[in-house]
Amino acid sequence: MKISFHGACREVTGSCILVEAGNVKFLVDCGLFQGESFEKNYEDFSFDAREINFVLLTHAHLDHCGRFPKLYENGFRGKIYSTMPTMDLSEVIIADALKVSRQEGREPPATFFTEDDIKFLMRLFVPVSYGEERKVSENISVRLRDAGHILGSSIFEVLIKEDGEEKKLVFSGDLGNPPASIVNDPDIISGADVVFIESTYGDRMHESKQKGKDTLKQKILETISKDGVLIIPIFAVERTQEILYELNSMIENKEIPFVQIFLDSPLAIKVTGIYKKYYEFFDKEANNLINSGDDIFEFSGLSLSRTPEESIFAQKASTPKVILVGSGMFEGGRINSYLKRYLKHSFTTILIISFQTEGSLGRKLINNEKTIDIEGKIIENNAETCLATSFSSHGDQAFLTEWIDLIKNPKPKKIFVNHGEEESSITLARVISKATNKDVIVPNYGEIYTL
Ligand SMILES: [Zn+2]
Repeated sequence: MKISFHGACREVTGSCILVEAGNVKFLVDCGLFQGESFEKNYEDFSFDAREINFVLLTHAHLDHCGRFPKLYENGFRGKIYSTMPTMDLSEVIIADALKVSRQEGREPPATFFTEDDIKFLMRLFVPVSYGEERKVSENISVRLRDAGHILGSSIFEVLIKEDGEEKKLVFSGDLGNPPASIVNDPDIISGADVVFIESTYGDRMHESKQKGKDTLKQKILETISKDGVLIIPIFAVERTQEILYELNSMIENKEIPFVQIFLDSPLAIKVTGIYKKYYEFFDKEANNLINSGDDIFEFSGLSLSRTPEESIFAQKASTPKVILVGSGMFEGGRINSYLKRYLKHSFTTILIISFQTEGSLGRKLINNEKTIDIEGKIIENNAETCLATSFSSHGDQAFLTEWIDLIKNPKPKKIFVNHGEEESSITLARVISKATNKDVIVPNYGEIYTL
């Protein structure tokens, strides 16, 4: 069996692993490179897309599904296995990415792929339930487990028979950060021969969930008392819904007074609609609230800004106000309009709740740089930027190490660490290797391993 790595090696984007077993070739994820690595999307695949029999899609984040258009354009017509919510979310995420790159005048990596082609791409999806064992080829079967990262996210257990021997490979996908407000905790895997684990926060610990909620509440109260603006850059999937969930709970429990809150992201609004279709994927606590009659994503003071006009209304609305706006990575979306308008004011607070890659605008704000370049315009930065890492939907070092440690019967003989910046991956590999005494590898882009 041959394994090769085609993204998310010593970086967090572009997830794509190729497995070749007998005459079957399959991919686990085919994600977009983002941020500083974007150019890599234009490189040819180092495999023939027409020869890929199927893809296992762990979840709908763009860095896991964003190169599907390119794969399709290159002739891939196999099946894509994922959960039902992953299928629905992928459709809107891929369509949005296509629209955004066209709007920004940036050539998409799949030049001839159009909105119409998405319909054909979607026909390749085969929904699979958690826990169900699905035969995907003569010698390979898969089982999806809940990764607790975003709605529908999965860990893949892959059983491969080769030369009379069966091997179990486990692909963690992105692992959640329990206890999350909406999704379930990540499943524990009973045993594995080889594990591929993500390492976004492989070298760090998160603050407690309560501390994150307290920071959110405190920043809202401060914003109200100084008649200011609180800008929360959000990812459309999970982070938005988690923040809405917390705001709903604070307002219903009268922990914060009435304040105008704008959700200014058409994509996040659409995704929240998909969340509402899949309550059965939510955890018990969220379901209890829903059953008691509470709409967990709606509360007084919340306005949804779908159109450009509604976005301008939100930008000009009187203070105090709270703005949830995309994108969470400060790449495109409507956030730039707010930064241009409000970064110069000391009454502005930016609350960062998601991972910011090296060199990104988000990192510059965290580093408190005094001037910030926004779309070629230099803006004076007098805003306060603060962090609440507990809203992360990725497990921290302690969680990742424990998750690996709980895989027994058999314990993995080999562990690959990917999906993390170099320092994170290497640190996690070192910690796991010390704890398990096993062979832990941090693969490089394009590297091939024989198992
Ligand atoms: Zn993810």
